[in-house]
Amino acid sequence: MASFDPERLLAALPSLPLRPPGPKAPRSFLKWRWPPILPYMGFTPVERVQHWQIARWLIAAGCITVPTHCAICASTDKVGFHSENYYSVLCSPALCGLCHQRLHRRFSRPAAWRDLMQAHVRTGDEWFALIPAIDYDLAGYLRATRGEQLRDMRADPALFACYGIADKLPRNLHGIESAEREDRQGRLL
Ligand SMILES: [Zn+2]
Repeated sequence: MASFDPERLLAALPSLPLRPPGPKAPRSFLKWRWPPILPYMGFTPVERVQHWQIARWLIAAGCITVPTHCAICASTDKVGFHSENYYSVLCSPALCGLCHQRLHRRFSRPAAWRDLMQAHVRTGDEWFALIPAIDYDLAGYLRATRGEQLRDMRADPALFACYGIADKLPRNLHGIESAEREDRQGRLL
């Protein structure tokens, strides 16, 4: 494939419509209850879990809806969000379980990924046709070009542009719960 162009990939990712949170918006983020996950595209395990927490909260609050069909093969089986840019929940495409697994395993099992691409790439401009064949540091690229503030995922301006989200977004993000607690106690004292 051609050399990886991060800007081309970022521009090709979808942009999810965002609605204000409904009355059932959870008061806290879900806890990560599975084994630790690996880094991906330069995003740390903590960043990946934080992204998952925010996405799950947005779904539960009614702010975003998981598409019914896989963006690659159009299957409706176990469709969930996939992320290439973990700093932005709103640019997450949806994938079925099988395509999701093949995508994440493409570094160690390139043949299965290549077969999937040959079956479904039409123009070459699809986001999944533009992801790199190697584990590129997209997180580092984004911070270098957009700023270190991206690490604070709760402060994503795209989320705060929607009425009600800033007020209702919980605080217990994975990896910072203890620091927040200390901060609150400090202020109380
Ligand atoms: Zn699929």
